[in-house]
Amino acid sequence: MTHFYLQKKLRSASRTFELEVEFALRNGIFLGISGPSGAGKSTLLRLLAGLVIPDSGFIRQGDHFWYNSSKKLHLPPQKRPLGFVFQDHALFPHWTARENLLYALPDPQRADELLALTRMEAQAAQYPHELSGGQKQRIALARALMRKPELILLDEPFSALDEDLRVNLGTELARILKETGVTAVLVTHSRAEIESYCDETLNLASGRLVETETFLD
Ligand code: ADP
Ligand code: MG
Repeated sequence: MTHFYLQKKLRSASRTFELEVEFALRNGIFLGISGPSGAGKSTLLRLLAGLVIPDSGFIRQGDHFWYNSSKKLHLPPQKRPLGFVFQDHALFPHWTARENLLYALPDPQRADELLALTRMEAQAAQYPHELSGGQKQRIALARALMRKPELILLDEPFSALDEDLRVNLGTELARILKETGVTAVLVTHSRAEIESYCDETLNLASGRLVETETFLD
């Protein structure tokens, strides 16, 4: 279980508002986060990752605190067992797909396992510019899984792809995540994506949780 309560004052050119979210994420769950642009979805992922420091709150994963404002505890991002996938894959352009995985962890056997899991064995020696958008995102996902994270954060990973590809990749993603058993949080604009493969959803508006829904029994 990852239980968090996070508070952070957010500022844009036109307004200031408070992000304040409490949620208990059960292990192995695939959580979808939806909400309008500017609601604070990306910031919430960045707070969980430790890339943005909250004003107050806590993040507790099992018995471990990643962040606890009352104890002035803040684990830096590299010490948190999590993986992050962004909209723009952020692969290293001068390294092959396989080398990009080995950068995360120099474990050739793990890299080969993940190339197989993401069905990218045939592209292992290709460079990012030789891959399609969907293939790049598969490699970004495989890279994020190299260190066997307990939590994986996906910030609109398919939004740069066209509709057909998005649906296929979403189904693939759900399969891969289920096979690895990792807990995942996906930010998406697409209601269809959430309904077709998330276990639970959280809807954010102006930094607040306005609705949660579960698709599990
Ligand atoms: P979304 O991903 O839902 O579109 P974001 O989380 O990117 O929304 O942004 C929400 C708001 O938070 C924006 O107005 C942005 O300017 C502001 N913001 C983002 N990061 C920070 C930060 N580190 N400190 C203060 N405000 C921030
Ligand atoms: Mg965003």
